[in-house]
This record gives sequence, C-alpha cells and structure tokens, in this order.
Amino acid sequence: TTRVIESLALSRRPVRLPVALDHASYDVVIGTNLISRAGALLAPVLPQKKVIIITDENVAALYLPALQEALKETGIEFRALTIAPGEHSKCLKTYERLTDAILEEGVERRTTIIALGGGVVGDLAGFVAASTLRGLPFVQIPTTLLSQVDSSVGGKTGINTRWGKNLLGAFHQPLCVLADVSALSTLPQRELVAGYAEIVKSGLIGDPDLFQWCEKNGDSVLAAEPDVLTEAVRQACAFKARVVAADEREAQASNGRALLNLGHTFGHALEAELGYDGRLLHGEGVSIGLKLAFALSVRLGVCPPEDLARVEAHLRALKMPASITDLPYSFRVADLMAHMQRDKKMQDGRLSFVLVNGIGKAFTSRDVPAEMVRDVLIEDGC
Ligand code: NAD
Ligand code: MG
Repeated sequence: TTRVIESLALSRRPVRLPVALDHASYDVVIGTNLISRAGALLAPVLPQKKVIIITDENVAALYLPALQEALKETGIEFRALTIAPGEHSKCLKTYERLTDAILEEGVERRTTIIALGGGVVGDLAGFVAASTLRGLPFVQIPTTLLSQVDSSVGGKTGINTRWGKNLLGAFHQPLCVLADVSALSTLPQRELVAGYAEIVKSGLIGDPDLFQWCEKNGDSVLAAEPDVLTEAVRQACAFKARVVAADEREAQASNGRALLNLGHTFGHALEAELGYDGRLLHGEGVSIGLKLAFALSVRLGVCPPEDLARVEAHLRALKMPASITDLPYSFRVADLMAHMQRDKKMQDGRLSFVLVNGIGKAFTSRDVPAEMVRDVLIEDGC
C-alpha cells in the first residue's frame, strides 16, 4: 500500500520537460489536473497578468470554466474568444474575426494569447499570436492527444487557404505548454487512437525503446489511464523536442524534421482522396501509412520483414487501422498514386519517401521507384 500511495502522490506532481532551442527555451508541463492549476503554473512565465484565451465551442463547454476559475484565483485578467470546432475554422475568415476582436480592444504587446484546445485551436491561435503586433506571447494548453504529443511542440503555427493546408503561417514558440492529460478523458476514442498513432510513429522513426514501451502499454494509453498517458506524452514530446532542436526551421531537406513525415505520404494520399472531409482522421491515415512505409521498405530490401510484422501486429492488437482495406471506403491505386506524385513532385518516375532500415531507424530517400509504391498499394488490397 505504501507503494500505491507513493505512486499516487507522484502522479500529482507534473513532469517538466525542457525544450531548448536556439532563440527560445520553455517547458512542456505534463500531468493531471493542470487546467485547474493553470493560474499558479502560468503566473511565473506571463509577462503581464493579462491573457486572451482562444478556444473552440466543444472545449469551451468542457474546460473554459475551470481555466477561468484558475486564472481568477491568481489575479490574472482574461477574456475568451470562441471559434466553431473543426478544421474549417483554421482559415483567413476566422483569423480576421479573431484579430479584429483583439485589436478592437486595444491589445498590449505583453498580453499573452492562450490556446485552449486541439491542434486546430493551437495552429490558429498561434498564428494570431505570431502576427498580431508582430508577435504576442503565446501559451499552449493542448486538449487532444495529437496536440499534446505533436502540434504543441515545435513552434509551427498557421492556417489553411484555398490553395492548400497550412500555407500561411509562422514559427512562433510558446512561453510554456501545459499538457493536462485529465482533459483527455472526454476525448472521443477515435481522436485518442489518432493521436496515439503519432506516438507510435515517433518510436518507429528513432526511438525503439518508445516503440517497445508502446507494445507493452498501448492498451493503457487507449484506455486513457492518466499515469500511462503522462508517460506517453512525455516520451513523445521528448522525442519531438530532440528532432526540432536539431532542425528548428525545417532547413534540412533530409533527416531532421523531414523524418517526422514517416507514414504521412501514404496517409495524406488517403486523406486527400476523401477530400479532407473528416471521414478519415489524420492519425488514422498515419496508422495505415506507417504499415505501408514499412511494407515499402521491406519490398525495397532495406528493412527486415520481422519488423514489418511487429509493427502490423501492434496496430492490429490495438484494433488500429493497418491496411487500406480496414477502411469502409474504396480507393483506386491510380488515384492514390496521382496524389503522391503531385505531393512529392516526382522526378523521372521516382518519389521521395521516409523509409526505414527497421524499427527506430528512419531515413529519407528521393529515389523510390513509383512502380514499387504501386506494388505495395496493390499488395495491401487496394
Ligand atoms: P482538433 O483541434 O480539430 O480537435 C479534434 C476534435 O476534438 C474537435 O472537435 C475538438 O473540439 C475536440 N476536442 C478537443 N479537445 C477535446 C477534449 N479534451 N474533449 C473532447 N473533445 C475535445 O484536432 P487535432 O487532431 O487536435 O489537431 C489537428 C490539427 O493539428 C490539424 O489542423 C493539423 O494541421 C494540426 N497539426 C499541427 C501541427 C504543428 O506542428 N503545428 C502538427 C500536427 C498537426
Ligand atoms: Mg501528423
């Protein structure tokens, strides 16, 4: 019992993960019940006791009152701006509405923008913060697993335009990230699985211990067990922070941040085919894409088949999508190929891909024959 009590006490102490970049360093604070302690956690980093919270309607209903209460307790002044939930809010129109509302009040340069929500809110509010008065301080309180392990680390912010996703944006690092795993208890299961796919991805790119940890604990992550979630978020953020620190502005064409796209070429093709209409979550596409990236690597003779089998077994054990045929939609090989060829600006019938030499050994290649990619899709039952 003493060990149980000790571990309970430990679970209440948040984990602090320092992210050290060239021009900024900040902490990702990970743990339970952080939103209700946000005032005390943020007070030391805020340049002024004044904030503007940007959130979406779903998250506002669930967590805005607790955040406001916590800010009140510490005498932090706030106002809240709410957007409609969903990817379509990451647009110029919503950006204009938010910046208008902020400028109308006469915002001060030291007022902090707080993003309370998933990656949509984080990317949009981050871009509002990056561009308003040429840069306001910014804090992320990510409330989806995807945003806790992926979008809140790395400083990329932005919105979509009619020409494509994330085409207007800026790098803008936060003062602090509060990843409250308690908030994940209300997240729909599909969203949890989609975020988990990005954690598995991190292990497969360059952290074999993380993948092994996933094999052991993945079911507890998907059951939203707080301590296990805290550990999963910590490991995935630590991995992303290492990659980002080495290549802050995605200046490296190969390796560096480019590796974070493992599984994404296939995943994006599936998403694009469905017209990004929400039928397939990004992380679900990534889950299938990871298996296909391993299958392609095996076919190219650069990865042992046992590693492909291990990846597929893990996805299947957790009932995650691992094949195109797991989806209730049909796709044509030629359509998926066309997406990938457009996406990758194919040259001489060869495509760029993130490949693997095995679990935790990703690398980039610009030399993948389109024929091989087609074969992998056909073999997958497409
Ligand atoms: P999202 O922000 O749309 O959230 C998914 C859904 O969950 C929404 O309906 C939201 O209202 C709801 N929700 C959020 N938190 C909840 C909670 N705790 N309980 C119940 N419901 C909750 O989607 P996402 O997957 O978090 O983020 C996707 C976005 O992130 C995309 O726009 C993508 O481009 C972006 N992204 C950015 C980066 C980056 O580096 N900046 C990286 C990866 C993804
Ligand atoms: Mg992704």
